[in-house]
Amino acid sequence: MTFFEVLPSDAPTFNATLDGVSRWTLPSIDCSVCGGHGGMGEHYPTVALSDWSEREHLEEPRSLQAVSLEEYQRLHALLRPRVPAGAPLEPGTQLGPVDARSSGRFGDIFFQEPWQPWMTRSALERLQSRKLLGLRGAPGNLRHRGASAPPELLTLEILVRGELHPSCRPPDWQPPCPRCGSHRNGYPMEASVLDANTLPKDVDLFRLREFKTVIVASARFVEAVNDLALRDIQFRELPSR
Ligand SMILES: [Zn+2]
Repeated sequence: MTFFEVLPSDAPTFNATLDGVSRWTLPSIDCSVCGGHGGMGEHYPTVALSDWSEREHLEEPRSLQAVSLEEYQRLHALLRPRVPAGAPLEPGTQLGPVDARSSGRFGDIFFQEPWQPWMTRSALERLQSRKLLGLRGAPGNLRHRGASAPPELLTLEILVRGELHPSCRPPDWQPPCPRCGSHRNGYPMEASVLDANTLPKDVDLFRLREFKTVIVASARFVEAVNDLALRDIQFRELPSR
């Protein structure tokens, strides 16, 4: 099976803009060993926390303050039953639907950031009808500026699954922090090789465990996108071993 890195088109057809975040974000950790960190890319927009008594810990302004490792682990354990199985739940993880301001015209696919794709409900349903696995999303709460309302747009929920092959780690690669687990290595863009033993069979779209901003698609996903002529997305083949 061949896999591909998912990237925004270099020259998008549509001119939409969108600015927003989920209501809930996991705080960073004040780690006595590494100083702590906050990651990007991990995002579960379908998670609902409106009825969760601890939710204010994940809302601004509290979510902007680093917490102790013990407090982090407490929140982590309480959240575990509410998030997809196996979710790493690293600092900076966004939970819940995105509240955003938008403008312009949207096509089938829109990248808020290279690691944060949105899709129209129609495009998502056409892909789902191709029997692709693990494709889902949550509608955003958009305040749209402009003459006509945008199509219904969903933030994709992309699970964390595969890993890079250890052989493509750069010479200065650092192991994760032994206390809090943070890792801060750069993505070896030109040299990236997937570890075939870690690649999932239960999803056709996933994030890499150490680089959650990198989205990987199966060949089936790429074929479906091309068949349906969905625009403003491109793919780069990733070798695996
Ligand atoms: Zn640490």
